[in-house]
Amino acid sequence: MKIGILGYGNLGRGVECAIRQNPDAVLSAVFTRRNPADVKILTEGVPVLSVDDAEKMKDEIDVLIICGGSATDLPVQTPKYAQYFNVIDSFDTHAKIPEHFANVDNSAKKGGKTAIISVGWDPGMFSLARMYANAILTDGCDYTFWGRGVSQGHSDAIRRIDGVVDARQYTVPVKEAVDAVRAGENPALTTRQKHTRECYVVAEDGADLAKIEREIKTMPNYFTDYDTTVYFISEEELKANHSAIPHGGSVIRSGKTGMNGENGHVIEYSLKLDSNPEFTASVLVAYARAVCRMNKEGMTGCKTVFDVPPAYLSAMSGEELRKKLL
Ligand code: NDP
Repeated sequence: MKIGILGYGNLGRGVECAIRQNPDAVLSAVFTRRNPADVKILTEGVPVLSVDDAEKMKDEIDVLIICGGSATDLPVQTPKYAQYFNVIDSFDTHAKIPEHFANVDNSAKKGGKTAIISVGWDPGMFSLARMYANAILTDGCDYTFWGRGVSQGHSDAIRRIDGVVDARQYTVPVKEAVDAVRAGENPALTTRQKHTRECYVVAEDGADLAKIEREIKTMPNYFTDYDTTVYFISEEELKANHSAIPHGGSVIRSGKTGMNGENGHVIEYSLKLDSNPEFTASVLVAYARAVCRMNKEGMTGCKTVFDVPPAYLSAMSGEELRKKLL
């Protein structure tokens, strides 16, 4: 499959790396809104082009992986390009998925193309884990724990505070809560009981540290509902110890079966990721394979991970899958 990458940030670079690990995939072009001459990619011989040239390449690309940001890029980019290309995106603003789905569906149907939105790990692999577990254990409770990992959104929110030079925020699941869920105790947990937040902050010389700490801890939506710890560190320390983008977490469902619910079961799907964007990119490339197959079979319009037959993700044939993995 001939792949185009639209938007070259962490995720775009991750897709470029993932393509190298999939022999049935080849990178045809990278499209950027910046001056293409300023965007240096890792693969020799592949053109970096302006997004304005993307439509001209529509017959040379099987699937366009759209790697813009969820906040403002994807709501515009995915509907725009879904009429010309089969597309995949990683849109992760959960509350706005229905609206995004409708916009992309409309556009993909117009062009006879197939789109899969909100692909990655959450939404993505975690959504599938929740769906499978709910279908199987119909009488039960769902839990999702994130971390330990870097939340880009929370790190950005701290960086916007006056006197802050740079910051990294880790979301950390509360061990006692995870243990109770794994033990099948079905605890009722508040937001504060599930996760804590750790912030590593580089402040300007002479900044009022107490004021910065207070502003972080009282920030509505981001920190007020959590126990938050703030550490002030040097720029060198941030670079040396906090420049990676790890993440992960667990989706757990515990449920009961039997005439009187006498038997308990726990389903858990968990991820430990050294690099959030590189893992997300690997999921995107597997779904790129599926979108090509679905389009060839005439399934057009917008889809999500729930609509994709699992075998369509694999480079193995049905026969190989039945022999090796069933
Ligand atoms: P980045 O901020 O690194 O990149 C977003 C866009 O910004 C790029 O497409 C690029 O567009 C532009 N950009 C990147 N670097 C620069 C730069 N140096 N100067 C100017 N512009 C730049 O975001 P990520 O790649 O880390 O993440 C993209 C989205 O993926 C996130 O918003 C997140 O919502 C989603 N995501 C989803 C996950 C899931 O599980 N579903 C998991 C992880 C992320 P251009 O080349 O056109 O300038």
